[in-house]
Amino acid sequence: MLAVTNTLTRTKEPLRPRTPGQVAMYTCGPTVYRYAHIGNLRTFLVADLLRRALEADGLAVRQVQNITDVGHMTNEEFDRGEDRMLVSARLEDKSPAEIAAYYTEAFLADAAAFNLQPAAAYPRASEYVPQMQELVARLLESGHAYEVGGNVYFAVESFPGYGRLSGNTLERLRAGHRQEEPDPRKRHHADFALWKAAGPHRLVKWPSPWGDGYPGWHIECSAMSLATLGEHIDVHTGGEDNVFPHHEDEIAQSEAVVGHQVVTTWVHGRHLLTADFKMSKSRGNFLSLRELTERGRGPLAARLLFLQARYRSPLNFTWDAVTGAERTLERLRSRLAAWARDPAGGDGPGTGAYEARFWAAVHDDLDTPTALAVLHELEADESLAPAARLAAVRRFDRFLGLDLDAEVGQALPAGAEALIAEREAARAARDFAAADRLRDRLATMGVEVTDTRAGTSWRLRI
Ligand code: AMP
Ligand code: ZN
Repeated sequence: MLAVTNTLTRTKEPLRPRTPGQVAMYTCGPTVYRYAHIGNLRTFLVADLLRRALEADGLAVRQVQNITDVGHMTNEEFDRGEDRMLVSARLEDKSPAEIAAYYTEAFLADAAAFNLQPAAAYPRASEYVPQMQELVARLLESGHAYEVGGNVYFAVESFPGYGRLSGNTLERLRAGHRQEEPDPRKRHHADFALWKAAGPHRLVKWPSPWGDGYPGWHIECSAMSLATLGEHIDVHTGGEDNVFPHHEDEIAQSEAVVGHQVVTTWVHGRHLLTADFKMSKSRGNFLSLRELTERGRGPLAARLLFLQARYRSPLNFTWDAVTGAERTLERLRSRLAAWARDPAGGDGPGTGAYEARFWAAVHDDLDTPTALAVLHELEADESLAPAARLAAVRRFDRFLGLDLDAEVGQALPAGAEALIAEREAARAARDFAAADRLRDRLATMGVEVTDTRAGTSWRLRI
């Protein structure tokens, strides 16, 4: 059974769904005002791996990932009444809806290229405004929220559990820790906006009982998670920066409305860094999957790179590391293709011990570095029958999602087999000049040959 570190309890716990066999999972999704960067993808990968691990154990997972196509105010933007969506719309001379539609498509394409399994639903924040308003109304009714001048705030002092997730309890939250002056009309400086009055230039706004306005980012996720998954959610994922305030506030809102705990397990991935700084749009150190591909590294090389670190450790991106991952991927794929071609019989030892160790690592809080180490040991174990290795690695890859059998079954172009045999003969005769010429000829046909201790192996350059 899979055990994961629950941010709420700060311990590693078995992930036991409330309904046996069925897992409800909510994944904080992207803000669609720009391309996702590979740091965002690292966080989404955590959810994908959790899901694949649970599915490998035979559980049915219903995963919902929201698309934030409204708002997503940060502190700096908050007071100016601007949000990232609107700033992008202005910069790109498009309507906010056009921006959102364009980057939603781009996100879904990136997710597919990165082998993230599609979620069961992708609720758009813009389509859940009535549900958000309903929650705000209920919070006002029950005294957990108050309105001042068209803004509705959540009263953190009304929710005794505030701070349980992040450790930012009210005593520890000092006044003035934010960069700007808090709204003087707020009762407590940590009170946060559920609904914000629209300023005169605001393009995207909705009528509400509190005047024209728009929702806060946190209420979006409460509304969408309750509406799509109900009042009991087994696991909720996000990046470490979501712990506070986003998820702390989501807990306060949702639980103040329903009156009980909603999410059992919170899982947060650590950030992807470049030169020790968080990869982010604002810092300008961000890299999209497109840019990576333009520089000759495939999306799955980045996926392998991320798998080489534990999700709970920060990871520095380097070009050397992603290049190394690309090479490893190429090597593994040609190994699998070679095993598939190898007719050697199956009377070697079984792969059972490797498989047991692989899944034990996965179950141990998604210990992907150890799982990959087991894969590499299996790769190096020449005592195993090729067909058994291929079958085992294919099972591993249902979790890893690296398309390791992408080259299995590929046929050599006409004439290449004869050239490979000729080259082997040249090498046996120590005629290395001839062997090199033959290697070049094969390369022009798209066939790359590598000499290994076990003989010549080849792969097709696509
Ligand atoms: P955003 O599109 O900005 O709402 O971010 C989407 C997700 O990516 C959130 O869950 C963030 O926690 C996560 N995220 C943002 N920056 C990074 C980073 N550098 N490394 C890992 N995850 C990140
Ligand atoms: Zn969220």
